[in-house]
Amino acid sequence: MADVEAFGDWLRDLAKTLHDNSAYLTELDSAIGDADHGANMDRGFQAVVAVLDESSFETVDELLKKAGMTLVSKVGGASGPLYGTFFLRFGTALAGAEITPATVGEALKAGVGGILARGKAELGDKTMYDAWAPALDAYDEAVAGGSDLAGALGAAAEAAAKGRDATTPLVARKGRASYLGERSAGHQDPGATSTTLVLESAARTLA
Ligand code: ADP
Ligand code: MG
Repeated sequence: MADVEAFGDWLRDLAKTLHDNSAYLTELDSAIGDADHGANMDRGFQAVVAVLDESSFETVDELLKKAGMTLVSKVGGASGPLYGTFFLRFGTALAGAEITPATVGEALKAGVGGILARGKAELGDKTMYDAWAPALDAYDEAVAGGSDLAGALGAAAEAAAKGRDATTPLVARKGRASYLGERSAGHQDPGATSTTLVLESAARTLA
């Protein structure tokens, strides 16, 4: 039950963070996309909070799967199905598992595997995966070094921020930004930016 509460706190904190950063994310998306990433994420997570408010969940996997399904159904655009699949697979991987740094690491990998299965991005394509990939590596390294969950998530968030920053010079090869070709260079990727917010929020709340 304590775990269900902690993961619920994460989703609520994330919803607030995405709401507060909505204009910023949309501004990033206006440079290389269609100026809706902030609105998409905000709408999706407000819907997740509405679900949390009206339902109670017995297990972490039920909670996360419901969040994932809500994102898939409420958010148009690329990011809804991608983040929705992340939460669906992240939750599924935690079914019946004790919450430990190791099991959460496996679940993060499963979630990101879902993003790749849907989006087919590769490292350097200037997508959210450019934040997720270094985050997974940093998480594993932290766990191998004996970090607790909050420490490993903190390391993952820091690595995601570096990956986010490194998207700026890249030319997009996936998603709407790829339509701009070379002109997509010089702008930070919106999805890599929201992924960093997801992990920073997790590090704050899943102690
Ligand atoms: P849309 O591009 O449909 O308007 P959003 O603006 O909500 O959707 O999200 C855009 C973000 O989605 C991009 O910044 C990028 O990080 C991510 N993205 C787009 N396509 C892919 C993909 N194939 N794989 C991974 N991430 C992707
Ligand atoms: Mg967009």
